[in-house]
Amino acid sequence: MLGHAVVIALAVAAIGAQSGCRSDPGAPRVRAMPTLDRKPALRGDGAARSPRIANYKIVATLDAELHRIVATETLTWTNTGTSAVTTLPFHLYLNAFKNESSLFMRSSRGQGRDQMRGAQVGTWGWIQIDSVQVGGVELAPKLVYPGLPDESVVELTLPAAVEPGATVEVHFKFTAQLPEVFARTGYKGEFHMVGQWFPKIGVRVGERWECRPHHASSEFFADFGTYDVELTVPSTYVVAATGVLANVTEAPGGTRTYTYRAEDVHDFAWMADPYMDVMTGHAKVEDGKVEVRVLYRPEQKPFARRHLQAAIGAIERFSASYVPYPWPIMTVIDPPVEAAAGAGGMEYPTLVTTAGDSVFTRKGIRLPEYVTIHEIGHNWFQGLLASNEPVEPWLDEGVDEWASAKVMNDLYGSRASMIDWMDWHAEVVALRRAAGEPGALPSPMATAAYAIVDGQAYGEASYTRTMRALKTLENLVGPTKFAAAMKVYAQTFAFKHPTGRDLFETLSRELGQDLTWFIGPVWHDVGALELGLRTAECWKAHPPRGVFDVTKKPVTEKEARETGSYICEVVVTSTGTVHVPVDIELRFADGSTQRVRWDDRGHASWERFTIERSSRLTEVWIDPDNKVLLDSPFRHQYRVDGEGAASLRAAARLAAIAQTLMQVVGL
Ligand SMILES: [Zn+2]
Repeated sequence: MLGHAVVIALAVAAIGAQSGCRSDPGAPRVRAMPTLDRKPALRGDGAARSPRIANYKIVATLDAELHRIVATETLTWTNTGTSAVTTLPFHLYLNAFKNESSLFMRSSRGQGRDQMRGAQVGTWGWIQIDSVQVGGVELAPKLVYPGLPDESVVELTLPAAVEPGATVEVHFKFTAQLPEVFARTGYKGEFHMVGQWFPKIGVRVGERWECRPHHASSEFFADFGTYDVELTVPSTYVVAATGVLANVTEAPGGTRTYTYRAEDVHDFAWMADPYMDVMTGHAKVEDGKVEVRVLYRPEQKPFARRHLQAAIGAIERFSASYVPYPWPIMTVIDPPVEAAAGAGGMEYPTLVTTAGDSVFTRKGIRLPEYVTIHEIGHNWFQGLLASNEPVEPWLDEGVDEWASAKVMNDLYGSRASMIDWMDWHAEVVALRRAAGEPGALPSPMATAAYAIVDGQAYGEASYTRTMRALKTLENLVGPTKFAAAMKVYAQTFAFKHPTGRDLFETLSRELGQDLTWFIGPVWHDVGALELGLRTAECWKAHPPRGVFDVTKKPVTEKEARETGSYICEVVVTSTGTVHVPVDIELRFADGSTQRVRWDDRGHASWERFTIERSSRLTEVWIDPDNKVLLDSPFRHQYRVDGEGAASLRAAARLAAIAQTLMQVVGL
């Protein structure tokens, strides 16, 4: 999913998209039969890569007029714990959009309201379980909504316990009504983006279930498995889905049935639309190649090319930096512009949705590329490294932001990552760090999504601040070492459910240092780094004057003349909760510079530096290389006025204009 700020940028871009002329697509026509993928669902030797705890067979029919899906589902679930299980919890995500009593609707009130218009005019979404059976016994009466009035989680009491190591089959019949798209899933006109649409079992972590009601800031968490899904849609529709297309048949009533197979994934999403075209390319990865497809409406073709290029570059770089993309196909859905705000910018295994197509995002303004790269990055940071998004949102969003910024820089250059029409440092990181004062955030970064004070703070903590923290750590230890450590993290935890602790332990071990001094305050405390310059002054140097021998005359200015050099004293403070080693650059009137380093790791709140130079001190720069991204960057350059007076003023550096502009652009 995209961060709060990017959603704002997309909203601005959408104005441009709406104002562009659109050709009439005409009546839907029967589409040519699609070509089968004829390749295994997993690249390589085909051996299972995950424990395949939750495996689904779904047979679904879309009523494109009612935007409703009628389906049967068989879940085969294995108890990999050490105790018997008598109750199974299931997510019914679509019930988050059922009424205003759902936790989602209650927790999203007051923010993103414009995106909720669809629901407010009555196009609600819901899912109803029509039947549930285990061992041929109808169990619908044993379904309980534990969090009423929220109906996004349901519990099923089993007729018999599932012992450790045993497997249970649960058979559902369900009906899913899509909402008008506004929070990832739903329809807009004839476009259907179908995500979080079927009863989905929770994850057993240790001996405890993780299956939380759907909250406005929470995303998803699920076990890996296989999906065999049959989708019946009108023959006029184009379909794209997670996995590979194994079969297509003509079905009665002007419909077709598409059969998909996906392996070692933890979700299944699909798109159906009568007007989409497809553009393909290939990404080269270490052990083969990946077919990349972009599905787009014809009027968005120029953007589709950009998305395709970005997707190929992203898959190649994420594969090289972490683990090779394990599946044969990556599908990028470029939703129609009128659906982009609701359906765009979301990740599913092997399928992502993008956004950003607008007259405002002409070539060089990399918002469309950024959205594609961020969502594709999630196929690593959550798709493969399947962390618990509701509980540790920073672990996929923030890590993905950090990793995506590197890919952006690699593909488009550090000065052209997002915007290249301004002649100043436009690296994504530099832009993001200007977006807010991290110290003002009332929730620590390591806070569960549903426990963060509001949506904006969720975005800042989980996306922006996590990226700043990782980039700062990378700057402190060096990019090569840090990249190697992150690669080990990815290789160790691919197809597993890593936690923040797993990441920190891996980093500490691979970087060969205890990082508690950094991780503790940065991830678990409220507050930020608060660097400041307290005083900076110089005086003319001379040998000591005064009485040194009581039998002789005092040494005066005459004997102890000024040497022509200066003694300069600088006092730097660090008064926040976060302390990191920092460089300080002193600039002198003759143009020379000198650097000193304050290796502050929380032991002191100030440090005095005394330097003798032949020239007067004129400027002090704290963190001159912008390595430390955990506080405001705009107060670290100071001019020292006069020879003796400690008159300091922060240099303006166009700060106010730049910051305002960046907030408007929402980067
Ligand atoms: Zn995201």
